[in-house]
Formats: sequence, structure tokens, C-alpha cells
Amino acid sequence: MVKAIVGANWGDEGKGKVTDMLARQSDVVVRFQGGANAGHTIINGYGRFALHTLPSGVFYPHVTNVIGNGVALDIAKLADELEQVETQGVPAPRLIVSDRTQLLMPYHILQDTYEETRLGGRAFGSTKSGIAPFYSDKYAKTGIQVCDLFDEPRLRERLTAAVELKNVLFEHLYHQPPVSVDELMPQLLALRERIRPYVGDTVTFLYQALKEGKTVLLEGQLGSMKDPDLGIFPMTTSSHTLAGYGCVGASVPPTAIEDVICVTKAYSSCVGSQTEPFVSEVTGPEGDELRRRGGDQGEFGATTGRPRRVGWFDAVATRYGCMVQGATQVALTCLDVLGYLDEIPVCTGYEIDGAVTHSFPTTPHLLRARPVFTTLPGWNCDVRGCTDYNALPANAKAYVDFLETHIGAPITMVSTGPKREEITYRTPKI
Ligand code: GDP
Repeated sequence: MVKAIVGANWGDEGKGKVTDMLARQSDVVVRFQGGANAGHTIINGYGRFALHTLPSGVFYPHVTNVIGNGVALDIAKLADELEQVETQGVPAPRLIVSDRTQLLMPYHILQDTYEETRLGGRAFGSTKSGIAPFYSDKYAKTGIQVCDLFDEPRLRERLTAAVELKNVLFEHLYHQPPVSVDELMPQLLALRERIRPYVGDTVTFLYQALKEGKTVLLEGQLGSMKDPDLGIFPMTTSSHTLAGYGCVGASVPPTAIEDVICVTKAYSSCVGSQTEPFVSEVTGPEGDELRRRGGDQGEFGATTGRPRRVGWFDAVATRYGCMVQGATQVALTCLDVLGYLDEIPVCTGYEIDGAVTHSFPTTPHLLRARPVFTTLPGWNCDVRGCTDYNALPANAKAYVDFLETHIGAPITMVSTGPKREEITYRTPKI
């Protein structure tokens, strides 16, 4: 059976922790979309890790980790990350990289950087990891697959065709030096050697694994709001962040996904540019305090180190986020972070042009939305590390019940700290 672990919001919900936790009872963990532009923070017996490309199953020797065909593969970053986890004492993980995965090329990173500079004040706040140019090229059919690395004449031919287009942009739009096929070829061939041992047919591997009754986890990157179709377009990423895309990006049958675990935090956080709509944002000293107390080391990007924007829990966005993911259950993380508050606002509606709505709107309306808050009492104590849901203070449980009612999906897990074992299990009330 397949379980998907995906984000209900803007990303950074704590999917890495939940995947690391659930990987123990799983056989395969697959990354199916995105690239090294976001990170999952994992804290376990080996230490603290920020994984960008490696699936979060790498800490278990019994788990096979798969980089699916839907991923934007930056080979250098993958190989560096593998070396890094091994340096931190993790046994060499089992890893298969799909021979159909496409390569994130140095010219994608250049294009992303040049384009953000060209846009100036209208920039998207890209991490400049090349993700948007990568996916553009994939759909324009000028991308290069891992399998192409093993056929040099074909590789040179495809590279020449791609570079021809890039250089028109680089020279005439961005006024930057052209890139050269003769320089790229040896770089790619060297990178090929770094992943050679891992390349395989993951489509057949997953087909066999499911046939043998194995449990497969799909690990999403970012969250519903960042999906280019159903998110806050165009302030989205360029690959689909929805569990449904796992069927394509990992190559598993749609009917095999039996469980969609949507991860959401007990408050909100959002990376990206300041111009992005983030309705329940808290700014000023109140926001600074939440940011400082959030996550495991404050709310700062795992990849970029950028301070994340923070806000109160947004029930309108999360309800929609769970709906478009098809959530069968919800894992609520970071409940412990809110223990310092006397009262906790929850965004339960959006006011748009004088009317209150509970439905998540399209971007032009979202940009005009103002939050409508319902304030709940806090619990004023530290619940960090609690492993028994019933032992939580009554107000903390009432807060979780309130969120569950408003998001309309069953909350089954409530996380009380960043560590693997800091988790409580809850019987849903809906
Ligand atoms: P992901 O991309 O969804 O895996 O999320 P990130 O790793 O980018 O961000 C989540 C942050 O919250 C990380 O710093 C985690 O260590 C941390 N975290 C996860 N669950 C909890 C929790 O229950 N409590 C606290 N305090 N931190 C948590």
C-alpha cells in the first residue's frame, strides 16, 4: 500500500519528522517532486539533519529510498548530501535514482538567478535553485534525463539543442556570457560517475514492491498552497505538491494510495517574497517572538536560512489544503511552540470586500483578504516532549478539537517536539 505524507500549507509543516517517524514501519520512501530548493529537518539518534534531495527514509537500513522521475535532480547536491549523512555516522543508505529523472543543469540555476535580477521588485523570491527553468524545460521537452548520461552522442545532441535556446536568452535578454556544450559535457560525465551506482528502473521496482505487499511512503515537498494548479498561483513552485501527483512523479497506481497524511503546524509559517498573500500573518514583536520560538531552532529556512514569515493557524487555508490533498488524516505539529501564550487567535474566515468567506479564494481575491480571528484560551505551560495525548492540558486538547472541526479532516497525530519520539496519538472526533 502507498501512504503519502504531504503539506497542507506553504511547506515547512514538519513532513520530514513525520516521514522519518513513519519510515520505521515502511519498506520504501520516495521523493516524487521538487528539488533541492526546500529542506526537511530531521532530528533523531544520529543528530540533526537538513535533507534537501535525499528521502527521509535514509536513516533506516531496511528502507529503500527512491528519487522518483518527478524530481528535479541536482546530482552534485545529491552526492554531497549522501557524503554528509555518512560523515555524520549514518550507514550508507539504500538508494535508487530513477533513470527517467531529469537533470537540473548549471544553466537552470543561472537562468533562475538572472531572471530574479531582471524582475527586480517583481521577483518571486525564488531560492535560485533553478526549479522554474528546470520544469519549464521538462514541459518544453528540452530536458535531459538521467538515462541520457549513459549515451554520450545522444547527451551531446540534447545538450546542444538545449544550450542553443539558453544562449539566446543569456546573451540577448540577460546580457550574460553564453554557456558552452564543450564545458558542460565533461562536468556531466563526472557527475554521472557519482550517481552511477544508484541509477535504476524505479518504475518496475515500485511495481514489484507493491505486488509483494510492501509499504511505500511518498514524501512531498512544500505544500498545497505552492501547487501550480491549485495553489496561490503564480506565487507557487513549479512542480505539483499534491499527493495526486505522486502517481506520476513516483510512478504508483492512483488506486494504490490508500492513506494521505496531511501535515500542518499549530500556527502558520511561509517562505517566499513579502508580496505573497499570507492572510493570518503576525508581524512586529509578537511575530518575532513566535518566529524565535517556532520549529526546533526558530522559523528559519532549512535551505536558505531566511527568516520565515509567521502567522496564526489559518483554518481557511488549511481546510482547503487538506481538501485538495485528499487528506485521510492530519498530523498537527509544533503544538509545544504555543505554550507561552495566554490566548491564541485562529484565523477562521477571510473578509473580502466587506463579506466574510470560509472558502479559500483565487489569487486576486486572496490578495484583498483580511483575517477574521477567533481567539481561544492558551494553556500556559510547556508540553514539549509529551507522548500521551490524554495528558495534555484541557485547553491544548480543546485547541486541537477546534482546529479539527474547522479543517474538517481527522487529526490523528499531534507532535510535541522536533524529535522522532515526541509525538502523541489522538482519536479523532469527526
Ligand atoms: P518540512 O519541510 O515539512 O519537513 O519542514 P521543515 O523541516 O522545513 O520545518 C519544520 C520545522 O519544525 C523543523 O525545524 C522541525 O525540526 C520542526 N518540528 C517538527 N515538528 C515539530 C514539533 O512538533 N515541535 C517543534 N517545536 N518543532 C517541530
